[in-house]
Amino acid sequence: MKFGFDIDDTLINLREHAFYIYNKKLNKNVSLDDFYALKRVEIHEPFGLTDDEGKKMWNDTLEEIYYTNCPAFPNAVETLNKLVHEGHEIYYITSRPKEHGERTKEWMKKQGFPVQDDCFFYGMQDDEKVDIIQKLQLDYYFDDKPAVLDTLSTDSVKVIVKDQSYNRGISLPRLINWTDLQRIL
Ligand SMILES: [Mg+2]
Repeated sequence: MKFGFDIDDTLINLREHAFYIYNKKLNKNVSLDDFYALKRVEIHEPFGLTDDEGKKMWNDTLEEIYYTNCPAFPNAVETLNKLVHEGHEIYYITSRPKEHGERTKEWMKKQGFPVQDDCFFYGMQDDEKVDIIQKLQLDYYFDDKPAVLDTLSTDSVKVIVKDQSYNRGISLPRLINWTDLQRIL
């Protein structure tokens, strides 16, 4: 079968990683409780930043957020390698900007994710992911972001939500831990 995965906050814990970086950079000590209570994808509000300031902070910090030691979610690497071992195809579909695509691919390989060069897509808008997902004829697709999930009809692909505080309103099959994958399938 063909499995497609978003990367950020689906396979790796990027926002929480960025939250630590924001605390350090802004010399603050905002609690993780505030992080887990966030009802939106953006993380700047608990730091007292406006949307514009938050956007600038994110873009100015992108290099550090993307390429330092952001952890994969527990068992994500193992689970994807197991799927490959069982003969399934793995695709990555990330809306990270074009200029970060190839470096992100290499970074993912370094973390131990099974990456085939021609199965890695990047640089699209959230609402363009659906086109790639349909073209690839994926059997399963995993994502965390409401703006993406809302564009996906579940007729052709089984869509699974990676559970996050900001997507609890979406009623699709939900993955909380990567160890639960077999049970959900
Ligand atoms: Mg994501």
